[in-house]
Amino acid sequence: MRGKLSWEDAPLTWILQYGVAKIVFIDGEIKMDEIKPSCPECKSNSVAWIFWGYPGDMDWYLKAIKDKEIVGGGCCISDDDPKWECNDCYHQWGERDDD
Ligand SMILES: [Zn+2]
Repeated sequence: MRGKLSWEDAPLTWILQYGVAKIVFIDGEIKMDEIKPSCPECKSNSVAWIFWGYPGDMDWYLKAIKDKEIVGGGCCISDDDPKWECNDCYHQWGERDDD
């Protein structure tokens, strides 16, 4: 999906395909499906998607960080940002999709 996203406009069940990550909203709860890779370093399945830029919905953003679904990558993006971060060993890898 390209362009600006408005989290407030999400219907009860909304599936957003973002690269290989699929984010599923169910009744306002964010669920990541199992497309997430495992960590190439420690083989952990607890992996967070790195969210670059500013979130449209701060409540969603903070909750998703608390649930370790995402980690905040910051507002400044470069040409070689990683896409995934391991929740166990903090290894970062992958390539951020260009908007
Ligand atoms: Zn790891």
